[in-house]
Amino acid sequence: MQIIDNAKRILKTGYVCDNCLGRQFAQLLSGCTNKDRGRAIRLTLAMQSELTDEKIAPANFADMVFRNKTAKTEETTCHVCEGLFQNMAKISKKILKEIQDLEYNTFHIGVRLSDNLLKNEENLWESSGIETTESIKKELARELGKIIQKKTKKEVDLKTPDIVILLNLDKNAIELTINSLYIYGRYKKYIKIPQTKHYCPDCHGNGCDKCNWKGLTYDTSVQQLVSEPMLEATSGIDTKFHGQGREDIDVLCLGWRPFVIEVIEPIKRQLDLEKLKTIINKTCAKKIEIDSFRYSCKKELQELKNNHPDKIYLLTLKPKNKITEKDLKKLDSLVCTIIQETPQRVKHRRADIKRKRSIYSVKCTLTKDNCLKVELKTQAGLYIKELATGDGERTKPSISALLDTEIEVLDLTVLEVF
Ligand SMILES: [Zn+2]
Ligand SMILES: [Zn+2]
Repeated sequence: MQIIDNAKRILKTGYVCDNCLGRQFAQLLSGCTNKDRGRAIRLTLAMQSELTDEKIAPANFADMVFRNKTAKTEETTCHVCEGLFQNMAKISKKILKEIQDLEYNTFHIGVRLSDNLLKNEENLWESSGIETTESIKKELARELGKIIQKKTKKEVDLKTPDIVILLNLDKNAIELTINSLYIYGRYKKYIKIPQTKHYCPDCHGNGCDKCNWKGLTYDTSVQQLVSEPMLEATSGIDTKFHGQGREDIDVLCLGWRPFVIEVIEPIKRQLDLEKLKTIINKTCAKKIEIDSFRYSCKKELQELKNNHPDKIYLLTLKPKNKITEKDLKKLDSLVCTIIQETPQRVKHRRADIKRKRSIYSVKCTLTKDNCLKVELKTQAGLYIKELATGDGERTKPSISALLDTEIEVLDLTVLEVF
């Protein structure tokens, strides 16, 4: 009789709805709802009350038709959930209105309880114990999720939902979080522009005299060229550009470099990516080119960031002294392990460490005007300009040291990203 005794104690406190009653026994049986559990217990108690007079708040039996009793009372609001479960239709309608203009495939519902609701629940647990119970928060979120799923035909995803709907009962509000949209692609860069958007260091993007009130250091970047049509198509508020490896402004990239573009708070997700790709390639012709445009996810973005690809570079160098064909032979010894300290030009923002990086192959030719064309296949993470200049002996060996002359880097191009 443990269940019945417990239920009586709960129903003595005033009107408690089927959900709140059944929830106290949520850990008994699976495959039924708390509402089912509550209904079953209420029916049992109602039957019993025809035989013996139970000390139960009469409102709990408002919807019962008794044979031997005539007393009838009005159903009132559940004092535990304050009527939430009686108003599920109304609440879900409100949620559906909030999300009606959004495109999404998956969602997740969260609930923040008010202090009152937390207190109600604690009071109930004090009288009935917590051995078989479940929290009101959990049931609310689950039952709302079921309704929204049925109405929208979208899936619940607890881990990486497109949108998160928070029923904030503390503020009596519905708060939406629109998660980012991730699109994978690969780019080539034919002109000297930065990979990502650089905010003006003086105004941090707000606009000032120095940046001509644009908020940006450079007019354009691979990110901006790809972003503009993306933001137009998605009505997102901004983008983040995650390239596989960084690229200096003065470096061309003639091999396909993978990237993931993250659209922040997109309203639309159903995109014609093929069409978008064509638009970008048409409007950015001769600046950049993209391909392999497809939907991606946060997990792939993390993999992309953790994956450090080898590369083939083409360097155009201007040695200070005259170089001969015979000198070029000396560069064969570059196929080795390079010891490189963090370059002076990035030391202020990177940890000053000594790294070891391999060079797999070297090909070089001498031009008529005493310039060197050097093609190198290198391990990821080698600072290539410093390999040429030596960076004040911080990179060893270097092209400069091997040829025993100062070297100026005229041009650097990425030929292939593996
Ligand atoms: Zn209730
Ligand atoms: Zn500025």
